[in-house]
Amino acid sequence: MTANKKNIDWGGLGFNYMPVDRHIRYTWESGKWNSGRLLKKDEITLPIAATCLHYGQACFEGLKAFCWRDGTVRVFRPEENSRRINSTADHIQCPEIPEKLFLDAIKRVIKANLDYVPPYGTKGSLYIRPLLIGTGAGIGVGPSNRYDFIVLVVPVGNYYKEGISPVRAIISEDYDRAAPKGTGHIKMSGNYAASLKQAALAKKQGFPIVLYPDAKTRSCVDEFGTSNFIGITRSGVYVTPSSDTILPSVTNKSLMQIAADLGIPVERREISLEELPEFAEIGACGTAVIITPIGELVFKTRIFKYGNECGHVLRRLYDRLTGIQFGEEPDTHKWLRKI
Ligand SMILES: *Cc1c(COP(=O)(O)O)cnc(C)c1O
Repeated sequence: MTANKKNIDWGGLGFNYMPVDRHIRYTWESGKWNSGRLLKKDEITLPIAATCLHYGQACFEGLKAFCWRDGTVRVFRPEENSRRINSTADHIQCPEIPEKLFLDAIKRVIKANLDYVPPYGTKGSLYIRPLLIGTGAGIGVGPSNRYDFIVLVVPVGNYYKEGISPVRAIISEDYDRAAPKGTGHIKMSGNYAASLKQAALAKKQGFPIVLYPDAKTRSCVDEFGTSNFIGITRSGVYVTPSSDTILPSVTNKSLMQIAADLGIPVERREISLEELPEFAEIGACGTAVIITPIGELVFKTRIFKYGNECGHVLRRLYDRLTGIQFGEEPDTHKWLRKI
């Protein structure tokens, strides 16, 4: 284990911003990306008419790097995030980021911040946040003539310090997150802004997370505000919605593969809200937490219960995925990239 040069309380880390040594920034102008610079100051200067500020030309990503027992650092499936940021960029008319540039950016910024990678055994990881924003000035609606691609990193702790514990969720009735043929399937910053009011109302009522039905029929499951939906049926089938308005989660994709590896049948299909009380286990999945088990789900005047402890199928999936990430289980699908 490396010395704790920054005197970080690894055990006390949550999911919070903290300044680190460097971020990396590339600029696109006149049709091309520059070669990028590692910068110390964690602030940017923008024109007051920057398109990211007025018109929401902003895409982001989230992925993690892990320290193995031997001290090496590995990033989980960065090619998936590269593909996804380009799908977002295309939709909101930002320039493409070549995969090589995206992967180089991640490698360079991690290497510049190795002292911030939580050591093996702390269960923490280095959260990586790529950000692509229109930074050219423009007052008429249209794509920017200048963009910045920034990758920042921050050490984060294991969300479950006391073990995985289920949370209460509520089904949104008064607000939609994503419209059919809208922007639910891309990771643009505005989707999150659109979910904040409903999230605040839910939190006030004691629900840390919100499940959104599809906006068109309001009869099927779409996803949680910031994570995909997983249901485990009583016969042990992994079910996740197939919908054009949900964000294709890398965690969900990985868990589906792991389920298949473990011999758990996987179904991707429409899930009716009426089916919700039939599930044995329900979870929300995403990079930050991996799996959040849902203990109780409130739908209008009904309450569906799934137990006060994480169900055993979700637990198995969680253990296997985190085991692969920390190098304790074989990486049979070659998901990790060594830095
Ligand atoms: C980022 C995100 C997820 C989770 O995706 P991962 O790749 O698993 O981190 C799920 N839903 C929404 C709306 C998201 O923005």
